[in-house]
Amino acid sequence: MKILNIEAIPILVPLKQGLTTKTAHGEHIDSPYVIVRIHTDEGLVGLGEATLAPRWSGETSASCVAAIEQIFNPLLIGKDPTRINQIRPLMDKALVHNPFTKAAIEMGLWDITGKTVGKSLCELLGGAIHTEIPIKMVVGAFPVEKAVALAEKFLGWGVLSLKVKVGLDPYEDIERVSAIHAIADRNITIGVDANGGWKPTIARDMLNRLAKFDLLFAEQPIAPTSIESLAELRENSNIPIMADESVFTLSDAWNICTNNAADILSIYPGKHGGISNTLEIANVAYAAGLNCHIGSNLELGIGTAAMLQVAATSNCVDSKSFPADLIGPLYHEADLLRTPLKLGPEVAKIPEGPGLGIELDEEQLEQFRVN
Ligand SMILES: [Mg+2]
Repeated sequence: MKILNIEAIPILVPLKQGLTTKTAHGEHIDSPYVIVRIHTDEGLVGLGEATLAPRWSGETSASCVAAIEQIFNPLLIGKDPTRINQIRPLMDKALVHNPFTKAAIEMGLWDITGKTVGKSLCELLGGAIHTEIPIKMVVGAFPVEKAVALAEKFLGWGVLSLKVKVGLDPYEDIERVSAIHAIADRNITIGVDANGGWKPTIARDMLNRLAKFDLLFAEQPIAPTSIESLAELRENSNIPIMADESVFTLSDAWNICTNNAADILSIYPGKHGGISNTLEIANVAYAAGLNCHIGSNLELGIGTAAMLQVAATSNCVDSKSFPADLIGPLYHEADLLRTPLKLGPEVAKIPEGPGLGIELDEEQLEQFRVN
């Protein structure tokens, strides 16, 4: 089998009204992503999604389309799409960084590989160990009243775990967490994510003050610039520290582990440049005795399906202890899938079809396509 063409289709999907979100990186109102279709000479088509956020990885919708059209498409035409281990280093040599763009292509290759043998991706990876993955919903860093209303809405729906965004104004951060903690029953787990918004001295104080709320984790309390500062915070905090923005590459994971800079790594295919890279990072964490958690960049259906396959198959991802962010489609007006994924309120279910287990909805694609 040979790759005939890699199509990069820019899209813009708004978040649902009332579900736009806010973090220390800024507000997320709509999603300028790219859908990838890898066409083969045998008629099989592989699907991928580049979940782009310039404030995260430096990639934009336009840069992703340009990288695919000018670099990856000419590089990969004629290659066997099932030779994923040969193609990964080719992409890394041709263009540094750009993980979300590479991940979109790599998930498309896995999708084709699964479809050639009629097996789901997690079957190819050794089989599912979970069919359902516990999830949590995210409450943005909004003023207390709005944040509480959102938390109430999620809890009323039956959600068992919440992540509260912090990292902006320390006073408001405490108020927000305190108010949500007060309305949540004891069986509800709550974590916080500062998205690197606190300076180290503020973070130390905040983790002390937040300790009384029995938090499940504190995600990326400080910017990813200093691994020593993160290790120091972890050393002095009773709340488990989760690294997110600090872990993009395999070397990042190694450095976090060897410096005892976190208790949990937040991982997902987009951030790490693909499914294979994500599993490698999970193995490094496993070797170091750390937990892994499935994080998110608010994916649509295809990106979420790739995350679900990883969550289903990896022994290193502990979604029971740290519920996954398998929630992107719930926040968007459309997921671009013919059959929506089964997400929430308590768990996400693994799709069963071959490859990623999903089909693209062509009508939705046309509706949200950017020309
Ligand atoms: Mg995060």
